[in-house]
Amino acid sequence: MPVTQTIEVSEKPLPGFIGDRAPMGMLIGGDWTQAASGETFETVNPATGSVLATVASGGPADVDRAVAAARRAFEEPSWASMNPHDRTLVLLRIADAMEANAEELAALESMDGGIPITVTRGMVADAAKTVRYYAGWPKILGTVNPVDASVHCYTVREPLGVCAGIIPWNGPLTMAVWKIAPALACGNTVILKPAEQTPLTALRLGQILAETGLPAGVVNIVTGFGETAGAAIAGHMSIDKVSFTGSTATGKEILRASLGNLKRVTLELGGKSPHIVMPDADIGAAARNAAAGFAMLTGQVCVAGTRILVHESVLDDFAAELATAVSAFRVGDPFDEQTMLGPVVSAEQFERVNSYVSLGVSEGAQIAFGGGRFDTPGYFVEPTVFAGVRNDMRLAREEIFGPVAALMPFRDADEAVRIANDTEYGLAAAVATSNVSTAHRLARKLRAGVVWVNTYSELDATFPFGGYKQSGIGRELGDKSLESFTELKSVFIRL
Ligand code: NAP
Ligand code: MG
Repeated sequence: MPVTQTIEVSEKPLPGFIGDRAPMGMLIGGDWTQAASGETFETVNPATGSVLATVASGGPADVDRAVAAARRAFEEPSWASMNPHDRTLVLLRIADAMEANAEELAALESMDGGIPITVTRGMVADAAKTVRYYAGWPKILGTVNPVDASVHCYTVREPLGVCAGIIPWNGPLTMAVWKIAPALACGNTVILKPAEQTPLTALRLGQILAETGLPAGVVNIVTGFGETAGAAIAGHMSIDKVSFTGSTATGKEILRASLGNLKRVTLELGGKSPHIVMPDADIGAAARNAAAGFAMLTGQVCVAGTRILVHESVLDDFAAELATAVSAFRVGDPFDEQTMLGPVVSAEQFERVNSYVSLGVSEGAQIAFGGGRFDTPGYFVEPTVFAGVRNDMRLAREEIFGPVAALMPFRDADEAVRIANDTEYGLAAAVATSNVSTAHRLARKLRAGVVWVNTYSELDATFPFGGYKQSGIGRELGDKSLESFTELKSVFIRL
């Protein structure tokens, strides 16, 4: 592949939180502690390949300690039975503290995950908003059921108990908050396991939680690997729920591991989301949305719109506009304010994305644009669009998790829907059209948990999020998270 551009990334001073290079501990029962085994691992800056910090590598014994602490905190003194208004106040203080430390959280997220600083600032702001949204939920109401006058029937929602969040490396602070905020609002206690690639913002959030008066043990952060810490959580007999975000393959492992105690499981998994461009769309705007939809966060987004389906009559115009939109994305140093795309998260992910580019070529698709290499030690990938893709190629079926998209023509709306739905995933889909009836008609037919019209990737704390088919089980955000972090009790009283 041709070298297209050199990228210089300077080393930045490490935020004070990382401190002297001693291994960073985990937060268990209010204490910062090393792994029982003494093992550690390193987290790396993907823009430079250099080591940022050494972190405790938790295993089953540490998960046991975290579960015991979370159980104690659930029961006594009880986070669950605290007046909900007081829980609200704690959550509001957490949101304020996240904002007060926003620049540091953004810098940590950018260093650990390679996400541009302008993007991580927005992520921190949104994360604080989400905490505030859930702080405003001491309003989880039950029902009084209309029954015979000689009985009184009512329902009440109660916390589940000890809830675990297992989260991926793409948007770690966002993911941490999606798990922690609704769990706490419902009166649960939490164990969070961040991904091995990006543990730092979760640990800093743990510090913030402790400083804002959250009782010890209510949130525990266990760092470590999926096969050790993650598997110990997934199979633990005393964890009541696992909320997982990550790959479909690991999601299936989590579900299997839940069988021991039938713990509640919600899964937010992968996607191969279609973006349908109708001939009546504003082609320039559709191209900009599609470009952002597949390339933002360097394609490391579960909802990435990686199958771009375009009406054959506008394909050439659209392809030209898409190339223009993508070439406007500045790839580079995550700390440069002009940068729009940073590196992918790790050497492994870098190899994986490049191998899919080679696969596309060997499957007979053509690189329409992109496909180049950068001269840099960091894990930078050029956004790449393939033409001549058939929906049965692996390029069109498998989640790549890098900035690689397939451009495919269609003849009419029925064919667009058929191709769009011909996937084992069903996380997101988008339609670009200027006709409101077309928008509604297609939105109904698309088998996906989220449908965007004339936009892409926009989310809101009130907007339930999750997948059809192998993209997951359950929904997060909005009031749906409150359902999935509570049990429903029905009480029947003969008067
Ligand atoms: P992954 O395996 O799904 O990792 C997600 C989380 O699960 C991490 O915290 C991971 O820990 C943990 N984990 C791994 N194996 C586990 C197990 N057996 N039991 C319990 N927890 C376990 O994803 P990945 O390996 O980081 O990435 C591989 C591919 O998954 C990517 O290339 C991408 O295609 C896809 N992915 C999708 C999403 C999404 O949001 N849809 C997010 C991330 C990745 P470790 O970090 O220690 O492995
Ligand atoms: Mg890292």
